[in-house]
Amino acid sequence: MRILVTGGAGFIGSHVVDAYLAAGHDVWVLDDLSTGRREHVDPRAQLVVGDILGDLGPVMAAARPRVVSHHAAQKSVPASVEDPRRDAELNVLGLVNVLEAARAAGVTRFILASSGGALAGERLPAREEDPPTVSSPYAVSKLTGEHYLALYARIHGLETLALRYANVYGPRQTPGGEGGVVPIFMANLRARAPSRLYSPPGMPDGATRDWVHVADVARANLLALTAQAGGVFNIGSGREVSTRELYRLIEAAAGREAPLLPAGERPGDLGRSVLDVRRAREQLGWEPAIALEAGLAQTWAWGEKTQG
Ligand code: NAD
Repeated sequence: MRILVTGGAGFIGSHVVDAYLAAGHDVWVLDDLSTGRREHVDPRAQLVVGDILGDLGPVMAAARPRVVSHHAAQKSVPASVEDPRRDAELNVLGLVNVLEAARAAGVTRFILASSGGALAGERLPAREEDPPTVSSPYAVSKLTGEHYLALYARIHGLETLALRYANVYGPRQTPGGEGGVVPIFMANLRARAPSRLYSPPGMPDGATRDWVHVADVARANLLALTAQAGGVFNIGSGREVSTRELYRLIEAAAGREAPLLPAGERPGDLGRSVLDVRRAREQLGWEPAIALEAGLAQTWAWGEKTQG
């Protein structure tokens, strides 16, 4: 199957590309390399360096994809608060530009990287149908993206799946995104330097998050190619882990220790977050396969090889 992966040179997108190639698919990548890296793209994929906000006619005509997997985005919650216009430009107008180009090119299925962490509601573990607590421009733009997908499904018959990722971690990750604390803690431990523990009020062990390994996320994207179901799917582990526990697990994976220093509250940080992944299990046949302990050990080993 011919697939165009936008953002395919990025952390998650490049693993999605790898999973598609391993399954024998014909993969094209559209990426402006703003945060992504050319060396993350397997040479068997066709890389087109370009902007999702540009004229996408030529790349669609060349790639003639049946499926678009849309991973190009502005991914930082704090950056969206700083510059909501840029967030909306990339995550809303960029998405609409890709959707329109996909429609014009006869694409039949569209997969969107959405966010479970940013779109969780009050009830935990968060379910897809719960009303989200929208607390950042990034959450607004991701939710808007999901609405666009539902609309294109209804009025244009496009098959759409929005995958709401929890906090993703794994090889090739850089600090700055939703799961950026893992590479930060690992880099500090590698330098034997202390790390900072931000804690929302009343949570001395730090905020809680749901961690999912990037290879599990890539496999969800593979299943999304042929799934009979459409709509919104949480992709997480269902396990709620505090920052302090995460740090201890990383220390264990690294086989070394360094102090974790209390750093107070960080404005805008969500207190608790964990996803209910039953829908993905039942409708996509997806289940997280990599336990956090094993995934952190693998990620540490990758870091030792590339940065050690
Ligand atoms: P990333 O920054 O590594 O990947 C984004 C890619 O998009 C990069 O390769 C970048 O160069 C490219 N890109 C950015 N702007 C572009 C533009 N205008 N035109 C073309 N390409 C452009 O980030 P990531 O962590 O891999 O995130 C991928 C997707 O997953 C994003 O949509 C993000 O919001 C979503 N997501 C990530 C997480 C997480 O934990 N990392 C969690 C939930 C959702």
